[in-house]
Amino acid sequence: MESRIERIKKQLHSSSYKLTPQREATVSVLLEHEEDHLSAEDVYLLVKEKSPEIGLATVYRTLELLTELKIVDKINFGDGVSRYDLRQEGAAHFHHHLVCMECGAVDEIQEDLLEEVEAVVERDWNFKVKDHRLTFHGICHRCQSKEDSNTVE
Ligand SMILES: [Zn+2]
Ligand SMILES: [Zn+2]
Repeated sequence: MESRIERIKKQLHSSSYKLTPQREATVSVLLEHEEDHLSAEDVYLLVKEKSPEIGLATVYRTLELLTELKIVDKINFGDGVSRYDLRQEGAAHFHHHLVCMECGAVDEIQEDLLEEVEAVVERDWNFKVKDHRLTFHGICHRCQSKEDSNTVE
């Protein structure tokens, strides 16, 4: 079975881009931190550990290219920082995010859950839905159980 990086390499090739060592270093950081939602700066600091010669501008350009090719999605959770999120392979839609207002944790929901909403949008607005972004802001289950144990004294 070919690895994820091999498939990303093919995606780049089919758009006439090469997987240069700098791009490869950036992609492997994203793969290693798939669960995280890293900012360009976060990615840069991690890439630098592997390739100290790499510059922030190069990492930034690579992230923009990967976004353009829909290998990653750029998201913003309302704090003004763009974060980069590897797109789930084969996913028709972007996953949803649960952002905890207390600890800042970001959990993901891979299930689409929105089929009915999309059907209404397509029907009533005659709008062909291609994708969506959904972020819930609230209190995560970890913080809720912390609160519970604090009140039980
Ligand atoms: Zn995500
Ligand atoms: Zn929390």
